[in-house]
Amino acid sequence: MAIRYTVVPKNPEAHLFEVTCTVAEPDPAGQRFGLPAWIPGSYLVRDFARHIVSIRAESGGHEVALEKLDKQTWRAAPCTRPVVVTATVYAWDLSVRGAHLDATHGFFNGTSVFLRVHGREHERCEVEIRRPAGARYRAWRVATALARDGAPAQGFGRYAAADYDELIDHPVEMGTFALVRFEACGIPHEVAITGRHDADLGRLRRDLARLCETQIRFWHGSRAGRAGGPKLPFDRYVFLVTAIGEGYGGLEHRASTALLCSRDDLPEAGGGEPGESYRTFLGLASHEYFHTWNVKRLKPAAFASYDLERENYTTLLWAFEGITSYYDDLLLVRSGLIAEKDYVEILGRSVTNLLRTAGRHVQTVADASFDAWIKYYRPDENTPNAQVSYYLKGSLVALALDLTIRSRTRGRRSLDDVMRALWTRYGAKGIGVPEGAIEDVAAEAAGTSLRAFFDRALRSTRELPLAPLLAKAGLALKVREAESASDRGGKAVKDGARPRRRASLGIRMSAEPLGVRVTHVTSASAGERAGIAAGDVIVAVDGLRAGGGTLEPRLARRRPGERIRLHLFRRDELHEIEAELAAPVADTAYIEIEARAKSGARLRAAWLKGK
Ligand SMILES: [Zn+2]
Repeated sequence: MAIRYTVVPKNPEAHLFEVTCTVAEPDPAGQRFGLPAWIPGSYLVRDFARHIVSIRAESGGHEVALEKLDKQTWRAAPCTRPVVVTATVYAWDLSVRGAHLDATHGFFNGTSVFLRVHGREHERCEVEIRRPAGARYRAWRVATALARDGAPAQGFGRYAAADYDELIDHPVEMGTFALVRFEACGIPHEVAITGRHDADLGRLRRDLARLCETQIRFWHGSRAGRAGGPKLPFDRYVFLVTAIGEGYGGLEHRASTALLCSRDDLPEAGGGEPGESYRTFLGLASHEYFHTWNVKRLKPAAFASYDLERENYTTLLWAFEGITSYYDDLLLVRSGLIAEKDYVEILGRSVTNLLRTAGRHVQTVADASFDAWIKYYRPDENTPNAQVSYYLKGSLVALALDLTIRSRTRGRRSLDDVMRALWTRYGAKGIGVPEGAIEDVAAEAAGTSLRAFFDRALRSTRELPLAPLLAKAGLALKVREAESASDRGGKAVKDGARPRRRASLGIRMSAEPLGVRVTHVTSASAGERAGIAAGDVIVAVDGLRAGGGTLEPRLARRRPGERIRLHLFRRDELHEIEAELAAPVADTAYIEIEARAKSGARLRAAWLKGK
């Protein structure tokens, strides 16, 4: 017998869903129910049960005692007839990981609302999603990749999933979203956009269709979607997009993704080449779509069967997030959505971000992956000094690995082959990837041992050999000093615009009404030596007020080695300190295409065109 659920947006103004779970034949010893502690794809224990406001059980019209066993588990008293548990869930988290409900729309992940019936996880689940009561909700529709089981297209009604794992892997949006449809390799795709926006939906449809076709062909070859072609792992796909003023985030699912973006990142009508903001949106969509294969189906053995009650450890997030981060932008070039010059600018910015992370000297990317549960999702003032991102470094390890394989095989093999081999051996068969398997498959593709490469890239804090590898593709990696606090790298300094060598304190700041607030102090910087700490509010430099979120105007005429006097508040205490300025660090990278050099042109063309 199927487990039956109902989801009712009971009180949108109070942000409350009412959810029921009915078990026809409960465990005679007392049926246990629980809510996951985390949501797959976001590796932090979030304790979704804390949003359960109230919960009760009944059977045959009689109240049944519900005993709480731990923070997220309940046990109903033994009963011989079907048991119904009803929970009220508070939904006011506008992220891709939780649930959100008001009078304008509703969104939920199954991990926030669907109780897991212990011991019955493999049974079919049937869900009735109900429209909120009241005339104002008459125009609401539903967007989800959950299979319809009686509900009309985009409608409220019955949906179903083969088991609990599938049930919680299909987020649901409800409201008056804009809807775009297209096909990629014969597979229907939908994009539901919630929130106010003025996006050029025609362009979005065309661009996403190209991107999705490129990705499907990346994994399944050029015959994908043709008669007699390979079977694809999903038969429908949904992008659930929430557009807000300022935001960025995505979470991958087996046949859909939830994206949170800034409305200005959506394409504007009549736009030419994608600008930086639209590139950001395309990169996010590309990233989550790539995950449909890499991590949703091709996944670490540690995730083969999720333990939803606690942390699931793996050293492989550098691959499942990093390789995905590498291909998200690369596949934009291969789709023809961005130009080669834009791609190398993006790469230059990634290298800049790594150079500005002192923590790359402290934490290996394998350790960053293993410790994601306690570190990555809990950044603090010390994070840049003590950690390296497995997304960022992982993407550059993937770049280095790809170029290594391409150069060692004279262009015959690449990381593309590694991914497809991993897909055939593990992803397509539903087998989890053992911790060392990616390295073995990569060595097979390279035709030579990559032990030294992986020891250095994954298990040491030594710098990645990016410059010599990029040179093999006819690309020159160059490093300079930042032009200003807002200089994110990726571009050479314009002729004649090179600033005078400015002095540096090695601190990051944000605006504060009274001065500037120190957010981070870089390890071994002039600021650290002077005793500046995160949280300090610097109000004056040499007796002149600091403001506007930056000390740049106050340091513009100063030289390395000079001393300055700072007034700052630490909590409510005023301090006066002296700092000796240091020379700025060359931490800003950009990449130049050596157009005249013949060597590397062929490798670069194969790499960026995916041939
Ligand atoms: Zn990701």
